[in-house]
Amino acid sequence: MSNIYKLTGTLQHYVWGGKDYIPTLLHIAKAEQYYAEYWLGAHSSSPSLIETNGSSQPLTEFLAQNPTALGAQSRALFGDGLPYLLKILDVKKPLSIQLHPTKKQAEIGFAAENDNKVDLKDPKRTYKDNNHKPEMMIALSDFWLLHGFKSKGKIIDTLKTRPSLTALCDKLATQDLHAFYADIMQAEQNQLETWLNPIINANQTAYQNNELTLDNPDYWVLYSMESMDIPADKLDAGLICFYLFNIVHIKPGEGIFQDAGIPHAYLRGQNIELMACSDNVIRGGLTPKHIDIPELLKVIDCREVEPQIIPPAPADKPVFTYSTPAKDFALENVNCRKGALIQSKSESATILLVMKGNVKIHEKSTALSLSQGESAFICANTAYEIEGVEDGYCVLAKLP
Ligand SMILES: [Zn+2]
Repeated sequence: MSNIYKLTGTLQHYVWGGKDYIPTLLHIAKAEQYYAEYWLGAHSSSPSLIETNGSSQPLTEFLAQNPTALGAQSRALFGDGLPYLLKILDVKKPLSIQLHPTKKQAEIGFAAENDNKVDLKDPKRTYKDNNHKPEMMIALSDFWLLHGFKSKGKIIDTLKTRPSLTALCDKLATQDLHAFYADIMQAEQNQLETWLNPIINANQTAYQNNELTLDNPDYWVLYSMESMDIPADKLDAGLICFYLFNIVHIKPGEGIFQDAGIPHAYLRGQNIELMACSDNVIRGGLTPKHIDIPELLKVIDCREVEPQIIPPAPADKPVFTYSTPAKDFALENVNCRKGALIQSKSESATILLVMKGNVKIHEKSTALSLSQGESAFICANTAYEIEGVEDGYCVLAKLP
């Protein structure tokens, strides 16, 4: 029996996605629709398909029938499910400002909503499962995001140079970040207009003429309003967050990790994302979806964050694992030069995605050929070789 199988992920057509990037990367025929995410994993809402003996079945079903494919350590720590989910994202329009709970918060929150009989599909439901959702990303293009609160000093510097926000600056001088943020999230529409309208009006021409730099929060306020169709009389409290959070530029190949409680929002670009298998998102603005303010304020981590950029995989290293604090997943980068052979052994269930080029994966006497956009599922405890057929690289999701 073989231990390496062809795997096909699922597409998510959320309206914030672009139309070309994902179909081009995956070499699939594109239709006139949005391609926001490509998922590789065993999330119950959208499992990948695994090809075994000429037929295909959901990876969830395969793992239920073959739990040893996960590996003993994975099963001991995470039970009989695949602990991670690998994604490709094409962020054309900004995503909501969000944060994710700790494992403990998720267990309590999930049980509480079950006790209160909130249906899992209810739009007001906050906890979809009982798991945490740490996540890491590696940029595939210039990528922009919001990530964590800036230091109080930096926030004050940003607010005091904008006349309509100096009142907020004075307010912050008397409050801690949590109380300050709580008041902003509960501000009335006319208050938001008092803060933001002068900025919107003063910068409209410069924005239209592309004269605002991307590290300027004013740019992102105008960009979000335009791309998300936010009307001037229905401002979103999340717009104020551009003045409070770090605006981070991740260059292609670099990455960043989102720990529990850290507020973040993907603004623009394409990336590879790897996360714990969970759908627990607590939203804090830039969204028409439900915002659970009491839960948001309970879970948000208002510590001052200095963004830690994950350095890119070195070009001269055949195998490189990105460093993150996550225990639920690890992302490995494999550079495959034409003709090179890389030997490896999977300690846990592994998903390989060819990002560029062409490879052959050998196991015992069998081989699986994969080209850009194609994937394989590798069972735990499998010795295998990756052969470069054409220069390129793969990413592998596994346990650390
Ligand atoms: Zn997130």
